Amino acid sequence: MIVPPGSTIGIIGGGQLGRMLAIAGANLGYRSHVFAPEATGPAAEVAATWTRGAYDDAHALRGFAEACDVVTYEFENLPVEALGVSEGVRPFHPSVEALRIAQDRALEKAFAGRHGLPTARWTAVASLAELRDAIAEIGAPAILKTRRFGYDGKGQARLHAAADDDAADAWRTIGGQPAVLEGFVRFEVEYSVLIARTADGRSVAWDPVTNVHDDGILARSSVPPSGVVAAQADAAIAHTRRLADALGYVGVMAVEYFAGADGPIFNEMAPRVHNSGHWTIEGAVTSQFENHVRAICGLPLGSTALTGRAVAMDNLIGNAAERWPTILAEPEAHLHLYGKTIRPGRKMGHVTRVKR
Ligand code: AMP
Repeated sequence: MIVPPGSTIGIIGGGQLGRMLAIAGANLGYRSHVFAPEATGPAAEVAATWTRGAYDDAHALRGFAEACDVVTYEFENLPVEALGVSEGVRPFHPSVEALRIAQDRALEKAFAGRHGLPTARWTAVASLAELRDAIAEIGAPAILKTRRFGYDGKGQARLHAAADDDAADAWRTIGGQPAVLEGFVRFEVEYSVLIARTADGRSVAWDPVTNVHDDGILARSSVPPSGVVAAQADAAIAHTRRLADALGYVGVMAVEYFAGADGPIFNEMAPRVHNSGHWTIEGAVTSQFENHVRAICGLPLGSTALTGRAVAMDNLIGNAAERWPTILAEPEAHLHLYGKTIRPGRKMGHVTRVKR
C-alpha cells in the first residue's frame, strides 16, 4: 500500500529520533503528528501536530491512529498491549511483534539464535537462586542485564568472579528483576548494521558502522568499515537481512554486533532508526530517516552509498553541546542540536564530518 506525499505520518515518541524523522518526512511532503506524554520535546518544533497522551492509553492511541495515515514509533519502551490497538486502525510499521521481541533480551537472543545468528552464551534468570545456577553454568566473567527497559548500559551489572557475594551484589544492582546472564564476549570492536526493508521484501543496507562507546553511551560512529568489521560486513548484513525477512519487517532496523574472532556475534536489535545511523543524513545518498519514511509509506528505497570517502559522527553528550561555536567554526562540520536543556549524560546533539 502506498501512502502518498501529503499524507500524515504518526510518530509515537517525541525525542530527537522523532525530530529527524519529521524533518525527513517534511522534505518528502508529509506532515508529522507526534504522540508523546510530555508537554513538548525535540520533535514538537518540527511536527505539524502534537498529541499529549500516555503510552498505555489505548483509547488515546486509537484516536491518534485515526487522525494519521500511517503510524510508526521512535521509542522502544512502549507497552505493546496498547499499541496493538493502533496497529489495527492504520498501517503500523515496524510491527508490534518486532517491538515485543526487541523489548526483551531473552526473546531477542532466542529469536536471533533460531535464525542462525551466534550470540554470547546466555540464560534467563528470575531469582538470585537461578542467577547462582546460571553462573555455575556460564562461569565468570559475565554480565547480568535486565530483560526489559535497559538502555545505554543501564540495568546491567558485571560479574568478575563466580563468588556468592558478587552474585548477590549484581542481583541487587539490577533491582532483582527478570534478567539474562551473558557470558563475556572477547571482541575487538562493536559495530551495527542498519537496513531498510519494504512490505514487499525489498531491502537496502548501509555500510556496517563501527561504534565506540564512552561510559555505556555511544560516542562515535564511523564508516566505511575497516579491518575485522570490513571482513565481517557481508556476513553481518546477511544476518541482519535474515532477521528482517523473518519478521516481515517494514522500516529501518538496527542490529548491534560484536566482532568476534569467528565472525559477527549478535548483541541486540532496535526496531527503529538508530543513533549509529545519524551520519547517514549527510554521509549517505539517502538517510536512515528518509528510507524509514519511504519504507513505511511503500515508496522505492533510496541509495545507501556514501557521499564521501569516510564519515564520522560524534555525539554531543551533556555540556559537550556548549562546544557549538567551535564546531560551527569548522566550515565542513554538520552540527545538529536537538533543542534540549543540558543535563549530564543527555544526548544533546551530534556532529557529522564527511571526508570528500
Ligand atoms: P548493551 O546494552 O547490551 O548494548 O551493552 C552495553 C555495552 O556493554 C556493550 O556496548 C558492550 O560494550 C558491553 N557488553 C554487553 N554485553 C557484553 C558481553 N556479553 N560481553 C562483553 N561485553 C558486553
